[in-house]
Amino acid sequence: MIDPFGRTVSYLRVSVTDRCDFRCVYCMPEHMTFLPKKDVLSLEELDRLCSAFISRGVDKLRITGGEPLVRRGVMGLFRSLGRHLESGALSELTLTTNGSQLAQFASELAATGVKRVNVSLDTLDPEKFRAVTRWGDLAQVLRGIDAAEAAGLDVKINVVALRGVNEDEIPNLMEWAHGRGFDMTLIETMPMGDVGGDRTENYLPLSLARARLSERFTLDPSLERTGGPARYVRVRETGGRLGFITPLTHNFCESCNRVRLTCTGMLYMCLGQEDSADLRAPLRASPDDAVLLAAIDEAIARKPKGHDFIIDRRHNRPAVARPMSLTGG
Ligand code: SAM
Ligand code: SF4
Repeated sequence: MIDPFGRTVSYLRVSVTDRCDFRCVYCMPEHMTFLPKKDVLSLEELDRLCSAFISRGVDKLRITGGEPLVRRGVMGLFRSLGRHLESGALSELTLTTNGSQLAQFASELAATGVKRVNVSLDTLDPEKFRAVTRWGDLAQVLRGIDAAEAAGLDVKINVVALRGVNEDEIPNLMEWAHGRGFDMTLIETMPMGDVGGDRTENYLPLSLARARLSERFTLDPSLERTGGPARYVRVRETGGRLGFITPLTHNFCESCNRVRLTCTGMLYMCLGQEDSADLRAPLRASPDDAVLLAAIDEAIARKPKGHDFIIDRRHNRPAVARPMSLTGG
């Protein structure tokens, strides 16, 4: 699939549920209203949609949410998608998780062909962890990370950089992650969804986080890319890799290879734009995939050139009304 700007779309992120067992302050309000279950695609429908994208050339699939591992029966989806790894059509099946259920599922995930997991972890301080996630338990997530490692999965740690919350802890988190052989990626807060607070308070530009890190560490720019929007450096003192995802201060749209599917079958061609395509209707219209494939092609032809996120005191509204938990980041 090639979009109007010549970019090949080969990466699909699929949110399999909008529900979550955490309530991270930058992601959801505490009293979040979730979608009615009837609007959510069945696991069979999700499999059919993913398989349609794979037949159109998607070779990398990331399962996300909400929290993907709280969706009942989600292991069945991983097992059935595993057939595309076996056939070679898919080169990678991964997930982004908060880690709370990893202790239970890590070895099963590895058995389905998953090789890597991204675990979101913003702090190693149990009290701060509780404050950021509202409902999360740090010890449980750390057990999950141990289980993932024991199952042979590569772990990458995603850290949302938050002013006044974890900004002082970033060097420690990095040394911890690199000490365990994990890559770490810092993410800037994105103005998505109404989280019931002032987000500019916690916005920490990664240019600042990076400048502070360079006072203590040697950051060697690296040309390595993992197919995502992160820019990497190699940290000489730790030997580990550190990524930066800076949607607000750096435009990475020119190399964007991805589209995002929500658990209701809406396809978002850009994380930072409202335009979407309903794939649930064509999916349900006919058991034959022709209508669905035509709808996918039509949507890709509308992929926009880039986003226009902006966060500042004057633009204090969310730039995009839907929360990250719907499109999965
Ligand atoms: N629940 C899983 C998790 O937390 O990893 C998967 C879904 S979560 C929406 C995916 C990623 O988006 C997480 O790394 C999370 O920290 C990040 N995220 C959520 N809301 C965000 C926001 N407003 N700005 C930047 N990153 C955000
Ligand atoms: Fe849940 Fe992930 Fe959003 Fe946190 S960031 S509330 S874990 S979906």
